[in-house]
Amino acid sequence: MCSTHREHALSRRAFAGLAAGAALMLTPLRSTASGVIEAMGVTCIDYRLVDDAMRFFDGLGLTNEYDELALAGASLAAVSPKFPKANAAFWDQLAISKNLHHIKKVIVLDHRDCGAYKVAFGKAFAAARDEETAQHAKVMKTLKAKLAKQHPDLEAAFYLMALDGTAEKIAV
Ligand SMILES: [Zn+2]
Repeated sequence: MCSTHREHALSRRAFAGLAAGAALMLTPLRSTASGVIEAMGVTCIDYRLVDDAMRFFDGLGLTNEYDELALAGASLAAVSPKFPKANAAFWDQLAISKNLHHIKKVIVLDHRDCGAYKVAFGKAFAAARDEETAQHAKVMKTLKAKLAKQHPDLEAAFYLMALDGTAEKIAV
């Protein structure tokens, strides 16, 4: 959606009153006719990769066709016992995305040098690339298994982004 359209939609919302405004919040500003989209995209909150993450999903052909969820650690947020509130948020938001937009897939985009991973594991992996990749793959595998159990109808794909914005698919 272009920013002009979004601003216009927001200014209309300003006139619509509180109740109508709340209703709009639950409705995508622009959606396909059926309200069905492809995926939910999960990223870390990290400010360094916000634009790269958007370009990544654009590159998958998902421009304005994915629900966006940003939680510190991405895959880690979903399953780490260190972040119970993020765990709850992940599974709640996934259910909402599924109910509202009938997503078929969850695409998880972790990134290297992730602060949340450092908090959870007490170690920085940036200097040990293979070890860092393995750590993400292990967490992703845990998430994949939990997704398969709780949402067997959803596909899952996992990627790891470097700080230069390039992403590699992680087979789990
Ligand atoms: Zn991060």
